[in-house]
Amino acid sequence: MRVSFRNRVRTGIVVGVSNQKPEFKTQPVQEVWDEQFVPFHYIETAREVAHENFASLEKVLGLMVPEKFFTSQNPEKRETFYKLSSNSKSSNWNPKGVKQKLALELLQKNKGCMRSEDLRKQVSLVTLQGLVKKDILEIEEGTLISPLAVTDNGKSNILLNEDQVKALKKIQDSKKTTLLFGVTGSGKTEIYKKLAQNVSPAGQVLLLLPEIALTPQLIAEFQSIFKGAVSVWHSKLSEGEKIQEWKRVQSGEAKILIGARSAVFVPLQKPELIILDEEHEWTFKNEFAPRFHTIDVVGKIQERFDAKVVLGSATPRLESFHKCEMGEWDRVDLPKRVGDVMMPEMRFVDLKSEAKRGNYSPISGALEEELADILKQKKQAVIFLNKRGFSGATMCKSCGHKFECPHCSHNMKMHRKRNDEFRMTNDELKAKFVCHVCGHMELFPKKCPECGKEDFAFRGWGTQMVEAVLKEKLPKLRIFRADSDSITGKHDFETLMNKFHNYEADVLLGTQMIAKGLDFERVQLVGVVLADVGLNLPDFRSEERVFQILTQVSGRAGRRASRGKIVIQTFNPEEKIFDFVKTHDAESFLHWQKESRQKSLMPPFSSMAKLTISDIRKEVSFAHAQKTFKNLKKVLPEGEWDCHFAPAFFPRTHGKYHFHVFLKAPNKKALVEFLTTQIPLEGVKIDVDPSSLL
Ligand code: ADP
Ligand code: ZN
Repeated sequence: MRVSFRNRVRTGIVVGVSNQKPEFKTQPVQEVWDEQFVPFHYIETAREVAHENFASLEKVLGLMVPEKFFTSQNPEKRETFYKLSSNSKSSNWNPKGVKQKLALELLQKNKGCMRSEDLRKQVSLVTLQGLVKKDILEIEEGTLISPLAVTDNGKSNILLNEDQVKALKKIQDSKKTTLLFGVTGSGKTEIYKKLAQNVSPAGQVLLLLPEIALTPQLIAEFQSIFKGAVSVWHSKLSEGEKIQEWKRVQSGEAKILIGARSAVFVPLQKPELIILDEEHEWTFKNEFAPRFHTIDVVGKIQERFDAKVVLGSATPRLESFHKCEMGEWDRVDLPKRVGDVMMPEMRFVDLKSEAKRGNYSPISGALEEELADILKQKKQAVIFLNKRGFSGATMCKSCGHKFECPHCSHNMKMHRKRNDEFRMTNDELKAKFVCHVCGHMELFPKKCPECGKEDFAFRGWGTQMVEAVLKEKLPKLRIFRADSDSITGKHDFETLMNKFHNYEADVLLGTQMIAKGLDFERVQLVGVVLADVGLNLPDFRSEERVFQILTQVSGRAGRRASRGKIVIQTFNPEEKIFDFVKTHDAESFLHWQKESRQKSLMPPFSSMAKLTISDIRKEVSFAHAQKTFKNLKKVLPEGEWDCHFAPAFFPRTHGKYHFHVFLKAPNKKALVEFLTTQIPLEGVKIDVDPSSLL
C-alpha cells in the first residue's frame, strides 16, 4: 500500500492490523496495491526469522521484496513488445522491402516476440507500424522478460535406474523431510527433476543451490524441461529483472524458482516442493544480519504450506544426519554411482617424505607422474588448492620481519602479475601484496622496511604458484586457473567451464569454486595439493568441513565410464579423518564426529551463539566484551549452559579489534529466549548457530 509520510508518498507492507486508535497522528492509506502482495504466511515467516536472529522485521521483509518496489513510483513499468500476430500465417506475409523482411527475420529468431527497445535498435518505428497495419505484427504491453536461452544437452529425458526409482518412490512416500544421502555421481539431480515434474498443476517448486553462478549446467537442464516456467534468482539480476522475476513467482506464473539462499525469501504462491541441493554447504548460512540459515527458513515455509522438503548431499551436515537418526527426518540412500562406476582410487602422498627427497614444490613426484599420464591418454584433470595468490606468508630472510596487513592481524600474500615463470625475476617487482581478509592491496615491497635487505623467504602455496610449477614441470600441459583473481566477470566462470568441457585445456586448477557440482566426462584425475588446509582450526566443525570439501572435489573424477584416480597430498597422512576420506565412508565419518560432539556437548547436542564485540580501540573492545561476558555469566541458567570469552581468531581485521563471547545452551529455543531477555545488548553482534567459531 502507499501512504503519505512526511509529505512524500511511501510504499509499505501491512504486517498487522489493529482496531485501536494509536496515540500518534495517523494518515489515510492512499492506495492498496495488492492484498496478497506478500502472503500472510511469509510475513509470519519473516517475523520468526527476525526474532530468532535478532534482526528487525524490516530487514527481513527487505529480503522478501525487491527494493525498487519501495523506492520507485512505478516499479512495474510496462514495456512494449512486438509479437507475430496470431491470425497471420507466414505464407501470407508478403513483406514489403528489406526492412520489413529484416524485422520478421529477427522476430522469428526470437520465438516470435521481442521487446520494442531491442527491435528498434535495428528496425525503424515506421517499418514496424507498417507491419502492424498489415496485421502481421501485434503490439503487446507487459512485463515479460525475454525467454532464457535454453540449451538442451540431451539430459531432459534420462530414464532413472533401479536405485533411483526406488529412492524416488521412498521420497514420495515419506511424509517427513527427506535427506537424500547419495555419493557423488549417484544421480541425485535426476531425482530432483522427477520430483519437480510431479508436483500438482498449481504447485510450485523451489530449488535452492549453494551458489547459482557455479551451476550453469544444472540450471540449463531444468530449463530444458520446464522451458519458460523456470525463474532464476541471483544477486546479479538488475533491479528491473528482479521485479519481473519476483512477479512471475509471486503470481504463480513461474512453476519453478531456482536460486541461492536469497531465493528462499521470494514469496511463492503455492510452494509444494522445496529442494536444497548440497545441503551441507555453508553458503546457505547468511553471514550478515539477519544471520539466518536457509534450512531454518525452509522449515518455516514448509510448516505453513505443508510443502515437501528434500535435502541432498554426499556429505550431509552432522545436524541433518542426527535428525534422521532421531527419526525426525527420513533418510534415503544412493550408495552407488550411476552405471555402477567404481568410486575413484585414492592415493595419499606424504609431503614430509617428499621434502626429504628434496622436492619442496607443491607438486609431488606421484602427482607429476599421474598428470603426465593424463596428457598421454588425452584425459583431463582437476587440481585443487584452497588458497589463491602465489604464496602464503612473506618474511625477510635477514631480520625475520613479517609482513602484515596494516588493518588486520593477517599475513600479506604475494599475488603475481604474470605467472608463467616460477623463478623470481624482475617481474616480481610488479607483483602485488594482498590481504585476503580485508582486500587491502599494495605493491610488493622492494626491500624490507626494517633492515633494508632485499632477500625474502616465502611460506605456503597458492594457486598461482601451482600454475607456475606445473608449467615448469610439464610444459605441454594446458592449464585453466579458476579462482577469484581469474574469475571476475559475470560469465567468466561459465565461459571457462564451457572451454574446459570442449577440451581446450588438460587441467582445471582452482580453489573451492571448482570443488562442487562440475560434471566433466573426460576428467579422470583429481589432485589435492594440500589436504591439510582448514584442519586443526579452533572450530569443532573444522574436520567436517575438510571431509566435505575433499569428498566433493574427489567426486569430480571418473564420474562416467571408467574409474577415476585421486591423489591427495598432505603433511599429516596419519590424521584419522583421512581414513574416512580414503574409503569414501561418509557414514562412519559422521558416527565418529557424532561421538566426539556428544562427549563435548557441541551442536547438534547443544545450541551456540557467537557474540562479537568490536572497536578500533583494543581496550574499549576488551572492556565491553568483558562486561558483556560478566553480565551474561551472572544470569546464566543452571545446567547445560556455558559461557566464555576470548579474542577472535583474527584478533584484528578491517582496523578493528574483535572479541567473542560464546554462549552454549541445551537447545536453540532456550538460547533465543534467554538472549531476548538480555536485549538490548548494545554494540554486540549476535550470531545464533554460527557457521564458524573463528
Ligand atoms: P550427483 O548429483 O548425485 O553427484 P548427478 O545427478 O550429477 O549426480 O549424476 C551424475 C551423472 O550421471 C550425470 O552426468 C547424470 O546426467 C548422469 N545420470 C544420472 N542418472 C542417470 C541415469 N539414470 N542414466 C544415465 N545417466 C544418468
Ligand atoms: Zn587486511
